[in-house]
Amino acid sequence: MRSRDPVEEVKRRVDLVDVISAYVRLRKAGRNWEGLCPFHQEKTPSFSVNQEKQFWHCFGCGAGGDVFAFLQKAENLTFREALERLAQHVGVPLDQSPARAKASSERDRLRSACEMACTFYSRTLLKSPHAVAYLKERGMDRATVDRFRLGYAPAAWDALANHLARNGVSQADALKAGLLASSNSAGRVYDRLRDRVVFPICDPEGRVIAFGGRTIGNTEGAPKYLNSPETPLFHKGRVLYALHLAKRAIGSQDRAVVVEGYMDAVALHKAGVENAVATLGTALTREHLILLGRYTRRAVLLYDSDSAGLSAALRSLPLFEESGIDVRVATLPDGHDPDSYVRQYGPVALAERLDAALPVLDYRMDLLIRQHGTSTEEAVVRLAKAAVPVLAGVRNHLDRGRWIRRLAELWRPNGSGIVEAEEDLRRAVAAYHRTGATPRMAEGAEPLKRVAVGHLPPGQARRIYLAEAEILRSCLESRAAAEQAFAALRPEQFEDGELRELATLISSHLADDGWDVATWRMEGEAGASLAARLSANPAPPLTGEALAECIELVIAHQELEQVRELKRRMREGEIPDHDELERINRLARQLHA
Ligand SMILES: [Zn+2]
Repeated sequence: MRSRDPVEEVKRRVDLVDVISAYVRLRKAGRNWEGLCPFHQEKTPSFSVNQEKQFWHCFGCGAGGDVFAFLQKAENLTFREALERLAQHVGVPLDQSPARAKASSERDRLRSACEMACTFYSRTLLKSPHAVAYLKERGMDRATVDRFRLGYAPAAWDALANHLARNGVSQADALKAGLLASSNSAGRVYDRLRDRVVFPICDPEGRVIAFGGRTIGNTEGAPKYLNSPETPLFHKGRVLYALHLAKRAIGSQDRAVVVEGYMDAVALHKAGVENAVATLGTALTREHLILLGRYTRRAVLLYDSDSAGLSAALRSLPLFEESGIDVRVATLPDGHDPDSYVRQYGPVALAERLDAALPVLDYRMDLLIRQHGTSTEEAVVRLAKAAVPVLAGVRNHLDRGRWIRRLAELWRPNGSGIVEAEEDLRRAVAAYHRTGATPRMAEGAEPLKRVAVGHLPPGQARRIYLAEAEILRSCLESRAAAEQAFAALRPEQFEDGELRELATLISSHLADDGWDVATWRMEGEAGASLAARLSANPAPPLTGEALAECIELVIAHQELEQVRELKRRMREGEIPDHDELERINRLARQLHA
């Protein structure tokens, strides 16, 4: 009997359905539980939990795994962090040897380097009167500085580099975390942010993962804003600035306010608009919407009326519709950004603007009407031509119909011929839709695709893959099947890499007393996800004869490979003996049956 490791012990004591129920409303469906997937937007449930085997799997986005994989994904944790959290919850002691701590993942090390840099920057701010003066001038008080952990990066090239080195952060980690940069030519390493006010960027849990820096005053040639590069921790298309501070207010007000810069987000929070988050120099992406979707179904974009972000957002209409989040646009008077507006008019006036926000489609159509005018028939025809591609991209037929009717009314202002005009427009929109020419999407924004689950190679390889998968599905179900399979097959004989790993894991448990798949430690998301995918198949697993056929097919495939090798040798002049020829013929019959 193998000794119980803490991972297995935790899995034995935790119930996956309990853990997931804190995130997803599950209901019983046959042998499984199902609900709406927390990792992609959907309206009908494709997220399935197998309580018996303690696996979860989403047929929509392909995510899946065991309880650790779920917690890692839901809370953006490392395996170790997920293990610690669950172990503490169910009272399983963990080995805390120094070797273990040293082996903590790269992400942990990069996070602690970022945290160290954050502390350094905020301490430096207190010693830098010109940076403090700048923040005061922008209306920041001490409480705001503390809440957002604002800091200052000194003008030196090596201040942070030295600080990190003194505190045991390797140069490689500091570079990888984006804290230092290196010049290509000389290979010189230096502080990325210098003489800038620093805005730490956090994940939804509030852990620092990157930094934004703003120049103080007018600095010749230098970009006004500078963000960390993409790192293992930081992908700007997936991060919303200040979400960790805003998520509670977003949830309780059931609305998020999205602005374009960290200064705007900070100013709004200071003015009491605590549900504000900012994108970091990108259009609102699919990942942003999924992130927001954890807390609310409503978002208001509060952008400058002439911003690139706004025009990108207007082109992203189909993306917003796909996401299931009601995205609206609130505008500010010309020359104002959220920061200046809230300082001049106050939070009440801003709240009125937010309440008056228009759905993105209406905002876009109003904009077209203003651009083209409606005073002459020619103008309305131009307007209609511009509107057709927009409306062709709208999935909601009520919204589409409403605007087609409105355009028809503008086209036939005296009322006669409205029905015909409406019919013409409807046909034009349908034709545009059919030709597949939908409006171009914003950069980085793509429609939510149904991700194909699993991969199936074509032809004979497909048969082998399916046979291997069926064998493992049976093994997960019963020890008898595993004994049958691994009496005939070695795990390394599995052709597919992923399946081979799972086969290795399963065969290693043949030494166990019981067959408690729910407690097995699945390495990595891929392995657990694969097991979950196999177990989610509602068809009864193969047994006896049918299983034996699959095993034979896999073995025959292996032998065929050997036969191919033999044929190659024959072409080169070798002569096979009688037995070998017999085997070739038998295999050929079997494989082409
Ligand atoms: Zn999903």
